[in-house]
Amino acid sequence: MTDLGCSLLSCGLDDDREWAMDDYAGAVARWCAGCGDHAVLTAVQRVLESEQLPPEQTVFVSGIGCSSRFPHYLRTYGFHGVHGRALPIATGVKLRRPDLHVFVVMGDGDCCSIGAGHWIHTIRYNPGMVALMLDNGVYGLTKNQTSPTAPRGLPSNTQPRGAWLPGMNPLSVTLGVTNASFVAQTGDWNPAHLYATILAAYRHRGFAFVRVLQRCPQYTTALFDKAVRDPDLVELLVHPDGVTVPELDRIYKHQTRHDPADLDAARRLAEDGERIRLGVFYRNETHPVYEEVRHVPSRSAAEKLRLIEAELDRYAV
Ligand code: SF4
Repeated sequence: MTDLGCSLLSCGLDDDREWAMDDYAGAVARWCAGCGDHAVLTAVQRVLESEQLPPEQTVFVSGIGCSSRFPHYLRTYGFHGVHGRALPIATGVKLRRPDLHVFVVMGDGDCCSIGAGHWIHTIRYNPGMVALMLDNGVYGLTKNQTSPTAPRGLPSNTQPRGAWLPGMNPLSVTLGVTNASFVAQTGDWNPAHLYATILAAYRHRGFAFVRVLQRCPQYTTALFDKAVRDPDLVELLVHPDGVTVPELDRIYKHQTRHDPADLDAARRLAEDGERIRLGVFYRNETHPVYEEVRHVPSRSAAEKLRLIEAELDRYAV
């Protein structure tokens, strides 16, 4: 668990504090040069700064993988967790401390494979947090194994002749779960869209799932290379309730007006198509949020002891 030390926590907090980007900077990021994770880290720091989130009120939870090194690179609280278990850890944090700003960072292997069960149930529980799933179609940290989202035919060390199966579509999966409330997709090579999407996710009430298409120049360069070079291969979903970035109008001519309240349309648009779609697919703030419907009141140590003793007394002989 990252510790902020006494400078923030016990040496007197000042409500007039103003946070700058540097205040959120942790250790120097050690991802490969050109890795898309660097851009995501910058976008996240911009959101923290623009929303003026106090570092001591902000928590980043991750699993295992390249992107899961995220908490080390931010000067907030952090929990570099267990493979596939970032979401239940973060849900526990949010249930106990609903006042905290909770972010989860996972890779595609982490979320869609070993963590798939937790992923499905966290969508249904709909806790108020942002989940960033950095999808590069490969297990990068362990040096190039086929992940669940690797497209059919993509070679790796474990499937050198190419992935045998079609890749899982994380957007369609998320949109198929009861109580899903926010589903978006963005790309690390588009900083304005990346920032706007993470900001919209943060401002959402409930569980905001963002799939970030993330370049891994080490192992899966081919995955997004064409779309990075040719804006004609990208389609933006635009709507006042979604993400709209006017400065992108000149670059991306394929734009579709999509109302994120329309779940059926969101499911159709989430299917793989001719172009990569970026934007908010679905947003609904009327669904139950778990920490609100399942609020557990805080009790003093003495009260907890009294309740335990009363329970044990029921079995006294
Ligand atoms: Fe990034 Fe790929 Fe390097 Fe991992 S292996 S740090 S995902 S470029």
